Amino acid sequence: MGMFPCTLDRPHRFQGKASALYANLAVNGSTLGSKVRMCRPHAEEVREWFEAKMHLVAVGEQVLEEDIQASITCSLCEAHGPTSGLFVNMYPVGEEDRAYYADVCATCARVVELRLHLSP
Ligand SMILES: [Zn+2]
Ligand SMILES: [Zn+2]
Repeated sequence: MGMFPCTLDRPHRFQGKASALYANLAVNGSTLGSKVRMCRPHAEEVREWFEAKMHLVAVGEQVLEEDIQASITCSLCEAHGPTSGLFVNMYPVGEEDRAYYADVCATCARVVELRLHLSP
């Protein structure tokens, strides 16, 4: 039995090692953050979502503040308008770490905030 429950979506207990992710959302000059521990199936599920919707950040690649503010298209739903920068570092069990970046509109930011339990 893992020491901590999987907290993606509804919390549940699981066996084996936990995968982890750290998420940050820069919104209106402040940053919301979270750390989520997940079972392997949930880690795979959320990673598929990141792979489909987010930009995979190469090792050593810098995402510049100017790029964030210049973006007016949401990476998730393709709505045009102001966006916030979402960063995710993922640590899947038995695999290499990876980092993702996306510009998200206010609506998608709210969805991400709830799903990844982001808080100030
Ligand atoms: Zn789970
Ligand atoms: Zn959106």
